[in-house]
Amino acid sequence: MRKYKKIVGIVGIFATLLSSSVIADESNSESLELANSTSGFAKIKVMANSMGGFKSILALEGVEFNVSGSRFEPEQSYKPAGEFIDVGDYNYKFSTILNTQQSRTEWLRDVRFPFIQQFSYTEVINGNFGAVFGFDTVFAAPQAPMLSTRLGAQVKQNIVSSPLALIHRAKQYSDQVQYLGTVKFNDRLQQVVSIPGWNQDIRIYIDVASKLPSKVETLEDDTVYGDAQWEIVFSHWDEVNGIKVPLELHHKLNGREINIETRSSVNLNASIDASLFLIPAELVSDFNADQFAWGVRSSQWFNRFLPFAIPFDLDQRSAATLQMVELAPKVFHAKAITHHSMIIEMDDYLIVTEAPLYEERSQVVISEIKKRWPNKPIKYLVVTHFHNDHIGGVRAYAALGATIIVGSETKDHYEAVFKAPHTVFPDALQNNPVDVKIKTVEAGHDLVLSDGIRNVRVFDVTNRHAIGTLVPFVEDENLLFVSDLYSPGFFADAIPPLFLGWSVDLLAALETSPLDIQWLVGGHGGISSYDTFVAKVQSSL
Ligand SMILES: [Zn+2]
Repeated sequence: MRKYKKIVGIVGIFATLLSSSVIADESNSESLELANSTSGFAKIKVMANSMGGFKSILALEGVEFNVSGSRFEPEQSYKPAGEFIDVGDYNYKFSTILNTQQSRTEWLRDVRFPFIQQFSYTEVINGNFGAVFGFDTVFAAPQAPMLSTRLGAQVKQNIVSSPLALIHRAKQYSDQVQYLGTVKFNDRLQQVVSIPGWNQDIRIYIDVASKLPSKVETLEDDTVYGDAQWEIVFSHWDEVNGIKVPLELHHKLNGREINIETRSSVNLNASIDASLFLIPAELVSDFNADQFAWGVRSSQWFNRFLPFAIPFDLDQRSAATLQMVELAPKVFHAKAITHHSMIIEMDDYLIVTEAPLYEERSQVVISEIKKRWPNKPIKYLVVTHFHNDHIGGVRAYAALGATIIVGSETKDHYEAVFKAPHTVFPDALQNNPVDVKIKTVEAGHDLVLSDGIRNVRVFDVTNRHAIGTLVPFVEDENLLFVSDLYSPGFFADAIPPLFLGWSVDLLAALETSPLDIQWLVGGHGGISSYDTFVAKVQSSL
């Protein structure tokens, strides 16, 4: 009876996964048939034998291959569910010793969004430590310790994307490997086997006819999707050193393609010099278990942002990273390292603009607000645009009962965000579900929030960065908050091409405005006078 319940539970999880991915799920798996055997590890052995031999695979140590690939981002498009952003291409040489958590990845990234730049750097992982040599982002140091968040994300990526590493992992946890049953994937019958992951299991789909793994999937936590299924489909199998390996891998998140990689020059008998994994003492930083857990829980959130060459792995979850700058009476810039909010004090309530990054960032800002204004509720949250780095913290404000103000063309997207289940890592709204109030600003129009003393006008600005972009304006202090269209102080020299287009659109919109805009407050960067903004844009053209 207990066994039956357990299996029904698993079927239930699959049914939930297939029906509840409100934002996107193009998965073509059919529902799971009940398992008729619990010997999951036996199925892994059969799979390994079809790949060239269970024992031979366990005997492997040094593995090397080259990868070329492309990155796509669905949550930075012009409109929700619009055409994906073509983030860029990459090549890397990967070397690892299986089962040791030692790896070396020599990257060459061709970034196309938002910067147009090449990056060449090396990531070394050695046990619980990692380091990056070379400039991996636009703000990087020539070499730096790897934060445990990124270490977790990379360790997971290396294992989950390798059938060989998964067989080693299954052996390590052999008593916990479970057979879940059969399911159809791409019209072919699959046996699904679960092996322990970190906080969620990893499921391998074994093709019943070929006995090769068709795909692997695991559930992650994503700021926008909530519970997000990361899926890697293996294809183009080739035999190398007597063992079959997939040469093409398609990575999807909730059914959306995010990464395609092609592997070549595979060597499964590589003798790798131990010195390749050495991390100099000055680059060894303390292992942070909490950050590591975050990295493995949300590996694709981190691994999707790295290709943008922006250091999203910086930990902005602590109060120590909050800087409150008083911009004018009762107007504060709540700054993090990369993404900021603005707090506007009204007579008997507060308005917050922007809830960027992730839930924990919002909680830092919210606790500071509760300390400073214990008797004023956050009545409104104005969200500048729907891109995932700018809305990851919206659910925290929604859970508090704030009305969320968004561009009307993006309303459906936010409704999906508020409904998305967050069971992998429950957030405030998951724990305290409320009917979320959404107020919209129509394209080309504005909305006035007023307490009878102060007016805050929220404008929709037409631009080529994102549909439904809002810029809130504090009328009595002549302050306009803006994200992405212009980032005050961001670029010492000319504004780079993509960014410049967005600034030109902002300028065009503001030039025709009858309002007396004197200051621009950045969702990134600092603040700038309106005149400096105009001069900067014009000199960059
Ligand atoms: Zn954006």
